[in-house]
Amino acid sequence: MGRIAYIALGSNVGDRAWTVMQALKALDDAEGVSVRKISQMIETEPVGGPAGQGKFINAAAQVETSLEPLELLAVLQQVEDALGRRRNHEQRWGPRTCDLDILLMGETVMESDALTIPHPRMHQRPFVLRPLAEIAAEVVHPVLGRTVAQLLAEVAEQPAAGQPEAARQPPAAAPLISIIGPPAAGKTTLAEAVAEEIPARLIREDYAGNPFLSDSYLRGGEFALPSQLYFLFSRLSQLNLQAWPAGGVCVTDYGFCQDAVYAGISLSGEDLALYRRLAAGAEQRVKAPDVLVQLDGPEELLLERIARRGRPHERVFSAEFLASMRRAYWKIVTEAAVPVVTVDVQQVDLLAGPGRAGVLKAVREALK
Ligand code: ATP
Ligand code: CA
Ligand code: CA
Repeated sequence: MGRIAYIALGSNVGDRAWTVMQALKALDDAEGVSVRKISQMIETEPVGGPAGQGKFINAAAQVETSLEPLELLAVLQQVEDALGRRRNHEQRWGPRTCDLDILLMGETVMESDALTIPHPRMHQRPFVLRPLAEIAAEVVHPVLGRTVAQLLAEVAEQPAAGQPEAARQPPAAAPLISIIGPPAAGKTTLAEAVAEEIPARLIREDYAGNPFLSDSYLRGGEFALPSQLYFLFSRLSQLNLQAWPAGGVCVTDYGFCQDAVYAGISLSGEDLALYRRLAAGAEQRVKAPDVLVQLDGPEELLLERIARRGRPHERVFSAEFLASMRRAYWKIVTEAAVPVVTVDVQQVDLLAGPGRAGVLKAVREALK
């Protein structure tokens, strides 16, 4: 399609994560712009500007575009306006719902009142370089002649965040046990048992923090894409290889692979295409599981448990939906390249007794 450009996204007013996700979607919807990669969202203290303004959420995105630089800037400004930014009332570096800046655009070097590329202050800003280094560590700044990783190392106290892409996978990373299976199979219960008995560090799915999980979620609608993106950002921050512990064992009560299953059901068309592109890029930056624990049980049992725990967004799960999820997980484990422990949750009590001990023993074996 054209040139690769890197965009900085920032927001410190209103629902900041929502704004960033809407901006990504609006950019991707624009003619001649396709979003290819996203960093995680980071929260940062405001720099410069008036005192007392709120913290920012910052992220970076890679886009491919057939637009000229000024046309791309015009698109960014349209998106800012659509998301409620009112330019004339603003102070410099003050609070704003949405700030989109062009950081780099291929080899382009230009300077004018309207547009300077590379962005003239990017190399001084950790809040720009940290997310950017995640998706563009080896990209060379065409004026300064140094990579984004090097620029970050010069401003930040944590040079680890900008390691070259090839050196990202630490040699002795803590193994990850990923527990997967349909809703209400007992993933969190087993994850807590593994955390206590193996022992392992427990990483819980942030489903309660997802503001877009409503009962419209699986029926599609405007919340489906933000909801999936929220989980994607959450996985990127929880499982990021750059911050992965070197020792010990980790356990998650979810699997990165489950997002694709949900996305395939809740999204379609361009939203699904955007999601798949971003997820494919994210997958390379998150820790892959070393052991999969698959929980499986009949739909009737799952439905009974779902009714009992009463989470509103789960009311839409039907027996057919659960059956298709179960099939998707069976496909995943059949194709998995790592050891799999499969547990029939109708037969095994994960809370106590010999069943639970047996599962933990199998997990220990699989870790060796
Ligand atoms: P900063 O430029 O320090 O990040 P800012 O983003 O708060 O500050 P804005 O008020 O959003 O500044 O933008 C001021 C003007 O900067 C815009 O109207 C735009 O024409 C110009 N500009 C110059 N270079 C760029 C760039 N690379 N990306 C976005 N805007 C730019
Ligand atoms: Ca800016
Ligand atoms: Ca700006």
